[in-house]
Amino acid sequence: MGDKEGLIIVFTGDGKGKTTAALGIALRALGRGQRTAIFQFMKGQGRSGEQMLDGNTVPLIEVHAFGAGFLRDGDDPAPHRKAAEEGWRAAEEELSSGSANIVVLDEISHAVNNSLIPAEQIVRSLGSRRNGLHVVLTGRNMPRDLIDVADMVTDMKEIRHAYSSGKGAVEGIDY
Ligand code: ATP
Ligand code: MG
Repeated sequence: MGDKEGLIIVFTGDGKGKTTAALGIALRALGRGQRTAIFQFMKGQGRSGEQMLDGNTVPLIEVHAFGAGFLRDGDDPAPHRKAAEEGWRAAEEELSSGSANIVVLDEISHAVNNSLIPAEQIVRSLGSRRNGLHVVLTGRNMPRDLIDVADMVTDMKEIRHAYSSGKGAVEGIDY
């Protein structure tokens, strides 16, 4: 590691706030002139506000989405596997030889839990990442192997969510 060690940060749990916490870090880092590369797994392109950020209005925060929609039981996993593998290749490249100060692997837990990316491979790439690089991992049911290598782990606990009273997802708040 260089003069400063990079951190591994996990945001997991059932409550709202995992992805938005990662985006908050990206915004804070932007204020410091640092670049954040966000790789979103299991999420289709164009589904959420952060994917609409562009380099002119919000510099230094890049969002790359890799997903083939929702993966339900009985679905053909092939397109999902292909999207996850493509996302992982791009993320690995950034981890080993990119120029971002922070890498976010958003919803990575789902890619692992659906057997699309092996946890060991992620652990290995985290271990050999560039000096000083911070990595944020988000998603419900974060696999034990990824929790074990993290410096900071936060469990978002749901007290109440508007969904349960029948309110749908809100633009700008939820997506
Ligand atoms: P956010 O992106 O708002 O920070 P999140 O990353 O914590 O949420 P995810 O598990 O990725 O949550 O959920 C994706 C979507 O589901 C988001 O639109 C989010 O607002 C919504 N959501 C989050 N938590 C809950 C919950 N407990 N019940 C229902 N929907 C939720
Ligand atoms: Mg999320």
